[in-house]
Amino acid sequence: MSTLEIKNLHVSVETADGPKQILRGVDLTVNSGETHAIMGPNGSGKSTLAYSIAGHPKYDVTDGQILLDGEDVLEMSVDERARAGLFLAMQYPVEVPGVTVANFLRTAKTAIDGEAPKLRTWTGQVSEAMKALRMDGEFAQRNVNEGFSGGEKKRHEILQMELLRPAFAVLDETDSGLDVDALRVVSEGVNRLKETSEVGVLLITHYTRILRYIKPDFVHVFVNGRVAEEGGPELAERLEAEGYDRFLGAGV
Ligand code: ADP
Ligand code: MG
Ligand code: MG
Repeated sequence: MSTLEIKNLHVSVETADGPKQILRGVDLTVNSGETHAIMGPNGSGKSTLAYSIAGHPKYDVTDGQILLDGEDVLEMSVDERARAGLFLAMQYPVEVPGVTVANFLRTAKTAIDGEAPKLRTWTGQVSEAMKALRMDGEFAQRNVNEGFSGGEKKRHEILQMELLRPAFAVLDETDSGLDVDALRVVSEGVNRLKETSEVGVLLITHYTRILRYIKPDFVHVFVNGRVAEEGGPELAERLEAEGYDRFLGAGV
């Protein structure tokens, strides 16, 4: 059992006009096997939370802590975070020029495990995972994110996640830009990992649609850099019916 703890997190971002405070005291605890949905209106700081967990250099943690089984994540490099079992799928994935999907996956797996995977079993695992995500075998020979469609980027993220088998996965807007079929395939991938491992999931989403496929145990609503409300799956249903108006009107 692992625990990812976010305590009183304050984060500011570097802008042209100087630092801007975005997260204003976020508290959140995710245990192995749990799925937490982070919801909230645009600009409420959801991606900032993801980038802060990832260790993006533009995001400055001014107060608070991120702990993984009591270890200080903020002291870890980006690579160390991955080796510690954190997986971050970003809302805007970057291109990796000249590196194929197959090489990228093998390099990531090697970096995380500290040794190269056995070629024969690894190749089998990759093609099995690709098949499950309805990805063409040729996809493995394409360069990472180069000319990928929105759906291909999301499938590639879930492919990485399934093969790297993290302790905690942070998925930022994995549902955005997906048609219903792609959404189902991607959600099935997340659910497969949930069934076959004790992964803890932080599912960041503006919309409730993906929560029909990936059932959250807990829902947290972000407004203006803070958790404004939390509850169980019923909170997502309420948001689907009512939207975020009541939070925005409440001056939180
Ligand atoms: P969300 O993911 O909930 O839509 P974000 O975390 O992306 O929210 O953004 C929160 C706020 O921080 C927004 O007002 C956004 O404009 C601002 N922000 C985030 N990243 C940057 C950045 N790199 N430069 C300037 N402002 C930023
Ligand atoms: Mg489980
Ligand atoms: Mg965002």
